[in-house]
Parts: sequence; C-alpha cells; structure tokens
Amino acid sequence: MEKRKIINQIKIKIAEQEVLRYLGYPQDLIHEISTDIKKIVREEIEQAYPLLESRGIYQFLDISSVFANGIIMTKQGYQFMVNKKTIDLLKNAEYLLLMVVTIGLKIEKAVKENFRQGNHVRAMVLDAAGTVAVKTAGQWLNHFIEEKNSREDLKFSRYFEPGSGDWDIKEQKQIFEILRPEIIGITLNPSFMMNPTKSLSWIRGIGHNLINTYRDEFSCQYCLLSNCPFRKK
Ligand code: SF4
Repeated sequence: MEKRKIINQIKIKIAEQEVLRYLGYPQDLIHEISTDIKKIVREEIEQAYPLLESRGIYQFLDISSVFANGIIMTKQGYQFMVNKKTIDLLKNAEYLLLMVVTIGLKIEKAVKENFRQGNHVRAMVLDAAGTVAVKTAGQWLNHFIEEKNSREDLKFSRYFEPGSGDWDIKEQKQIFEILRPEIIGITLNPSFMMNPTKSLSWIRGIGHNLINTYRDEFSCQYCLLSNCPFRKK
C-alpha cells in the first residue's frame, strides 16, 4: 500500500446550510432566519475562503493482528489500543488508514481579531465557517482515498477519532508519531489537542472482506476541483 502522502490545497466549498446548522439553526427553521443574519453568513463564508490553508496527510499500515481486548498490531511494528466496539467494526480489516487534515491558523486568528474588535456575531459565524471547512476537507480526503482505491475492490470502515466515543484521546500521540503532521503545520499539545484547532485526525479500517463498511457520500457540489474529470453534474 501507499506510503505516507501529503495533499496540499484541498479545494472545498463551505455549505451555507451547514454553517447555519453549526450556529444552531435547524434545517426546518432556515426559512425563518432574518435576511441580516443570512447576509452576514454569506459574507463571512466569502471572508473564509482566502484564509483557508487546507492540507491533509495520510498513511496506510498493514494490520498483523487484532485482539479481542482492543489491541491492534501492525506489520510496521506499531500498536493501537481501541475499544471492543471498534474491534468489532474493524473485523476482517487488512489495513489501517491514518489521516489528519487542517485548514491552518489564519481563520483562528481572524476569529480572535473579530472578537477583539467587538464583532462577536461575525467572529462566531467565521468560526462556524471554519468548522464546516475542516469537516468538509476531511470528507473530501475520505472520498479522495476511496475513489483512488476503488479499482482494488477494497472496502472501508467508518472512521474513528481519538477522544470521541470511548476511544482514549491519548492514542492521538500514536497517530502523530507515525504520520508526523508537523510537516503540514499541525502540532499536539500535552493534553493531546491539535494546533491549529481546526484540524481533525482519524483512522479507518480497510479490507477486501470487511463486514461493517461505510462510504463517504461526498457530493461534488462541495468540491472546487474545477478540472476533475469525474465531476458528477
Ligand atoms: S469533483 Fe467530484 S468526483 Fe471530482 S474530486 Fe471533487 S468530489 Fe470527487
């Protein structure tokens, strides 16, 4: 399988509806949002684009053993400790895919600056736009790797993030030791939180006979790769 790979300039679109959702407006109430708020959301999304420094890094590891107590060993000599539920969902996985994405520091700085100047609403909207951007960049990376490996008839598991569910956030350290996302500007603090904060890390299982499979239904409408030959109309 592929060695560690870096993707620079992940080109994604920030969905207005998603930003509104992160701001606490449920989909069925979107028509009730004032035109002033909608205008601010659209303006802050436009402010966000030039601030995005979306990058990702990923690597495949070959799984050598999976134990019922939650230990996963790889042929490269790494060991992960997950929980029993994750072990069940990774049944028959042959590879472990490690991924980290970020949108960089610029949005974070702009949000702080807005707060400093007393522009609280704009700061919150820009922050929500950044959250949507990093999540969309993560989905794009999942989609990219799924498409890239589609000919191999490989199936992918859902994704697991250190610190979510009951997976210990300390496993973040292991992902960082292997992937070294510092190369794309992401560091880990002593509490295992990432800097820039608008960064995501996760693992997935991959295998020809994986039982619990998941495919990221990423829509081309959120992708800004203008020259992609596979774009669906
Ligand atoms: S345009 Fe569509 S098919 Fe092409 S990379 Fe973007 S999301 Fe994937």
